[in-house]
Amino acid sequence: RGKVLDVADLKVHFPVRKGIFRRVAGHVKAVDGVTLQVPAGQTLALVGESGCGKTTAGKALLKLVQATGGEVRYGGQEVLSLPASRWRPLRRDLQMIFQDPFSSLDPRMRVGEILEEGMQALGVESDAAARAERIEALLNRVGLDPAMRYRFPHEFSGGQRQRIAIARALAVSPSLIVCDEPTSALDVSVQAQILNLLRELQAEYGLSYLFITHNLAVVDYLAHQVAVMYLGRIVEQGSTEEVLREPRHPYTRMLLAAVPRVDVAGDALPAPAIPHGDMPSALNPPSGCHFHPRCEHASDICRSTYPAETRLSGGRMVRCYLYDT
Ligand code: SF4
Repeated sequence: RGKVLDVADLKVHFPVRKGIFRRVAGHVKAVDGVTLQVPAGQTLALVGESGCGKTTAGKALLKLVQATGGEVRYGGQEVLSLPASRWRPLRRDLQMIFQDPFSSLDPRMRVGEILEEGMQALGVESDAAARAERIEALLNRVGLDPAMRYRFPHEFSGGQRQRIAIARALAVSPSLIVCDEPTSALDVSVQAQILNLLRELQAEYGLSYLFITHNLAVVDYLAHQVAVMYLGRIVEQGSTEEVLREPRHPYTRMLLAAVPRVDVAGDALPAPAIPHGDMPSALNPPSGCHFHPRCEHASDICRSTYPAETRLSGGRMVRCYLYDT
């Protein structure tokens, strides 16, 4: 029942103001022409270091921050230009869960009220008894005791709060959920439980996920497709299996080389540092290919002109002169 989410050339540029007259002195190009597709019933992971613009992109396609350019089509319908009255019914279909479930849950409301509020706002179940029944079933489904509906968010652990946030998203019967690092604030054992739950729910309800993360182990576990983002742009995209087995873009290779390994006893070894310094600022991105100051293959053209998209076999896309034909 899901629909395809198609994002084309999405841009979010924030003005930077300076001086007492608050004149616009430049723009931060947080998202600078992102094109991606989330197939119905599948997971696309959007991967990159913090500050690459992935969260802003996720919020922009749900209109939680304003896009300054591009198109977002959901089931063929362009949503960025929709007036509020026509956008509201689509909000049921498109939900988001956040990294920090505590700050996304109102601390003054009981869990049952949190779930009910979302349903009422989006017109799900007009009958109070039906809503109560639905809340019980949802809490059960995400692994919480339905009696917990009378408790407040602070009475729960981080993992339980994320289960509540998932139940709140599910309450309005979405078909696509933007998951913004939903497990990165949790302990490793709890992370696995939440990832399993998300996978089960996908199979059960045919959900599509846009899964925002910096963690390639999570990508490997959950995602069918992966898009790698660097300073506001997608630099490589393809099936998870192919991209992780044979990364093409030097940045994807660098991310993979920095994944922590485990030793023979199964203990985690310290993560190798990401080489060649930190990601530059989106306010003053490097000229040409933004990755050139960290890339061992950089040549003159890399420093002057941003590479175009190159399509490789198997639907792989890469933006790098090493593959320009
Ligand atoms: Fe490196 Fe050039 Fe490819 Fe950019 S375009 S990743 S600088 S080789």
